[in-house]
Amino acid sequence: MADTHHSAAELVALARAAAQRAHAPYSGFSVGCAIEAEDGSIATGSNMENACYRLGTCAEIAALTSAQQAFGLDKVRRIAVAGGHIGADGALAGTQTVTPCGGCRQAIAEAADLSGVDIEIIAASGDGGTLSQTTIAALLPASFGADNLADAERR
Ligand SMILES: [Zn+2]
Repeated sequence: MADTHHSAAELVALARAAAQRAHAPYSGFSVGCAIEAEDGSIATGSNMENACYRLGTCAEIAALTSAQQAFGLDKVRRIAVAGGHIGADGALAGTQTVTPCGGCRQAIAEAADLSGVDIEIIAASGDGGTLSQTTIAALLPASFGADNLADAERR
């Protein structure tokens, strides 16, 4: 039902709001992610760092986990990401477009594999002023997925 869907700008606004709830005291780089399901439902997430740096998790992974709980990974259709620093006014700021990292692209591809539908990616700057719209197939061509495990040894 397309009329229940959010605009790209609305999804970016949700991602920017999610970034305000990031736990990013070490990098100072807050990232938010908003995921839209086929029925227009929304799941969000933000990055969460740790004093043991390598244990930090990405906003997209947090949002995908929330999406799985809320409506299932197979229902994911669009993903908006925005990142930057929290400005003096409390809003996310920054002018560089933020795309999902390689690991998150792999996780998004898993969701796309489940439905067979290419997932739209809306990458935004922290201030929301710069948008780049693409798809997971374009961001992760020739990806590794469940089909590549066909020759695994079965016991
Ligand atoms: Zn990532």
